[in-house]
Amino acid sequence: MKILVLNSGSSSVKYRLFDAGETVAKGLIERIGEPGGDAADHSEALRRVMESVDLSGLGAVGHRVVHGGSVFGSATVVDDDVVEAVEELVPLAPLHNPAALSGIAVARKLLPDVPQVAVFDTAFHQSIPPSGVTYAVDAGLAARWQIRRYGFHGTSHAYVARQTAELLGRPVADTKVITLHLGNGASACAVAGGRSVATSMGMSPQSGLVMGTRSGDVDPTVIFHLHRVAGLPLDEIERSLTRFAGLQGLAGDNDMRTIQRRRDEGDAAATLAFDVYCRRVKEYVGMYLAVLGGADAVTFTAGVGENSPAVRAAALDGLAALGITVDPGRNARGDRVISPDGAPVAVCVVPTDEEAEIARQTEEVSSGQARR
Ligand code: AMP
Repeated sequence: MKILVLNSGSSSVKYRLFDAGETVAKGLIERIGEPGGDAADHSEALRRVMESVDLSGLGAVGHRVVHGGSVFGSATVVDDDVVEAVEELVPLAPLHNPAALSGIAVARKLLPDVPQVAVFDTAFHQSIPPSGVTYAVDAGLAARWQIRRYGFHGTSHAYVARQTAELLGRPVADTKVITLHLGNGASACAVAGGRSVATSMGMSPQSGLVMGTRSGDVDPTVIFHLHRVAGLPLDEIERSLTRFAGLQGLAGDNDMRTIQRRRDEGDAAATLAFDVYCRRVKEYVGMYLAVLGGADAVTFTAGVGENSPAVRAAALDGLAALGITVDPGRNARGDRVISPDGAPVAVCVVPTDEEAEIARQTEEVSSGQARR
């Protein structure tokens, strides 16, 4: 089946066209609505996409949607009710969901006869049991304001967990895997039998691991303190914790390559940033080993996870007693399996491919619909 995957951001549209699972075209329309940008609005951006690729025989369009709230536990064929539900979730993802909605609206208008499928970043984590998504806060407030863990990067964790099962030569239903998506955004996930049972991002993509510019877990009192004692306005605190925190906040640079180079040169701030980053990953590995009752594999993915032997080694250092060891030669080469042969827990490196997973789910959902 021919599938167009659209990832509509607030100022960009990324697209990839698949035919029978193979990528046949891809591109990026950038700086939408900005002077000198590629397009004036999302409507023009999508028209540009449609002019530049051959859409004859298109079977479906798959849209990446960041927030599916508690409503969407899987990819879904878009109709008016789905659009309305995604609109209602805008307060939970004020930057991301509106962009996806404009992509969906324009695609429905320009391709009215082609099924549109929404694939949610959060959906994979809807299988986490209540004990893993409920914050221990006032239950009435939480219910009224949709306060709970949702989790993100679900498409990537789902894809990587399945690829890991393939590497192990086992059906995904028989595997327990800890997936570590370490990119500019970063999250950890515990996957049992192909289903998410715990994840580090929460109500927003802010909690959990240390990221390029996001803090990950902090005591909420940090916010009250910065507001009451330091006198910072709330939106400035939000900006600080989302854009000037993480590696950026600790060492003034959000790129792990630069952090590693400076660490190699003996830079103290970069060394501390690296250590804080890797220790946080290790803490989550420990937590998820406990949640899963032991794992068959720990898998690294995304920009840092796929490319940094130093982070992989440091994050799993000292875990031999838990069955986790990294073979230095395999790690340096970036092999798919970097643990020694016969290790109790396989340590894997799997390149993520969110668009391929969106295409797969889009095909599954839209052909399911055609049969009905
Ligand atoms: P992503 O969001 O998955 O595209 O990841 C982007 C991040 O991956 C960059 O900001 C870098 O910090 C990191 N990265 C890419 N290549 C390397 C590398 N060779 N070593 C360490 N980090 C890398």
